[in-house]
Amino acid sequence: MNIKKLENNINSFWDSKITPVLIDYIKIPNKSPSFDPDWEKNGHMEKVLNLAMKWAEDNKPDGSTLSYEQTPGKTPIILLDIPGTVDGNILMYGHLDKQPEMEGWKDDLGPWTPVMKDGKLYGRGGADDGYALFASISSVLALKEQGIDHPRILVLIEFSEESGSPDLPHYMELCAEKIGTPDLVICLDSGAGDYKRFWTTTSLRGLIGLSMKVEVLREGIHSGGASGHVPSSFRIARKLLSLIEDENTGEILVDELHTNIPEHRLKETATLVSILGNEVVQEFPWKNGMKPSTNDKVEGVLRRTWRPALSIVGSDGLPPTANAGNVLRPFTTLQLSMRIPPMVDAKKATEAIKKKLTESIPYEASVKLHFEEAADGWNAPETSPWLIEAIEKASENYFDEKPCSISEGGTIPFMAMLGERFPDAQFVITGVLGPQSNAHGPNEFLHIPFAKKLTCCISSIISDFK
Ligand SMILES: [Zn+2]
Repeated sequence: MNIKKLENNINSFWDSKITPVLIDYIKIPNKSPSFDPDWEKNGHMEKVLNLAMKWAEDNKPDGSTLSYEQTPGKTPIILLDIPGTVDGNILMYGHLDKQPEMEGWKDDLGPWTPVMKDGKLYGRGGADDGYALFASISSVLALKEQGIDHPRILVLIEFSEESGSPDLPHYMELCAEKIGTPDLVICLDSGAGDYKRFWTTTSLRGLIGLSMKVEVLREGIHSGGASGHVPSSFRIARKLLSLIEDENTGEILVDELHTNIPEHRLKETATLVSILGNEVVQEFPWKNGMKPSTNDKVEGVLRRTWRPALSIVGSDGLPPTANAGNVLRPFTTLQLSMRIPPMVDAKKATEAIKKKLTESIPYEASVKLHFEEAADGWNAPETSPWLIEAIEKASENYFDEKPCSISEGGTIPFMAMLGERFPDAQFVITGVLGPQSNAHGPNEFLHIPFAKKLTCCISSIISDFK
C-alpha cells in the first residue's frame, strides 16, 4: 500500500465530500427519540435518513448494496454491504441520531449552526457520531483505489443510540443473516485521549437512567403556612438519594453496582496517565479553583471509567429561580443518570437500585420510579496479535506516534450486545471524541485533521485483516 497516496485520497475525499455533508447534517435537529418523542411527526430523522441514503448511493463502492430497514414505530437502520475480495466479515458501526441541544453554547456557535474554525467543525452530532458512516465509506474507497484486498464489510448505522439503542435488538434479529458472524467489529463512536495518536477503547461503562417523582401534596400551598409541618418533597428526594450515593465522596452505596477491576486494566490506566499527565485533569472546563474528587490521577480516571457514578441530569416540579414563589411545592421529580462499570449486570443493578429507593420511604410519601432501557457496559476480549500489530503500524504510519488504549466512561449499548453475541469477535472501538470535543455538552466539535488521520488508520487496519 502506498501510504502517501492513501492519505492524499482520504484527505481530499474528506474536503470534497464528507465535510460538506456534515455541514448539512449538523443543521438538522435529529434528536434521538428519548429527547424528541414526536420524532416521527417532526420528520427530522426522515430528513437525515434521506440525506445519508442519497450521499451513500452517490459515493458507495462499486458492487456494494445500500439498503435501509424501518419497521413501523421503530427508528430505521442503514446497511451498506460491501462484498470482500478475501475471506472474513467486518462489521462497521455508527449512529445518526443526536443528543439534545444543551445550554452554554458560545455566542457565535449553536447546536444546529455548523461553524468551521481552526480546523474544527462545530455543531451537534458532527463528532458524535455523524461522521462515522461517511468516514467508513471513505476508508474502503481508499483501499479500492489502490486495488488492495479486503474482507466483506457491512456498515450498519442506527438511529436510536443516544436513547440506549432500544430498537437494535429487533434489527439484530431481523438482519441476523445479513450480519452473519463478524470477525472484526469497527466502531467509530468513541473517545480519544489526545489528538496525537490512534486510540482504542478497551472498555465502556453501562448506563441506568431513571426518573424519581416524590409527591407530598395534591397541590402547592403557601410555604409560610405549611413548611415544617408538611415535609418537603425535595428533602425526601435528597434523603432517598443518600441511600444510593454518599454525598460526601460521591461513592455509590449499592454493592451490585461495583466490580473488581481487572489487573491489566489498572496497568493500562497507569500507562494512560503516564502518557497524558495533567491532561487527564485539565481536559475538563473547571470553574475557577474547582478541584477534582481525588488528587490521585489514576484513581480519578478509574472513577470515570471503572466505578459507578451518579449524575442528576434533569428535574420537574421546580420553577426557574426568577419565577419561584414561596411555595411548598407538591412534588419534585429528578432524572437520575447512573453510570455502571463494565462487567456489572445492568438488570441486577436496576433491581438493586429499585430496592434501595423503595424499601423505606420517609413519611410514606408517594415515590414513583420510571426506569429507561438499561445498558450493560463492555470489556474488550483479549486482542489478537495481528490486530495489535495492525493498530501499531497504523498509528505510527499516520500519526508518527505509538497508539494508546483507554477505558471510556461512556456507553455504547451495541458493543455489549455484540460482545455477548459474538464472543470470538475482535474489536476496534475508536473515535474522534478527544479533549474539549464535548459531545453531549455545548460547543461540540469535530477535529477534522484528526478525523482524517483516523480514517487512514481504519483503512490500514482493514488492509491488514487476518
Ligand atoms: Zn455516540
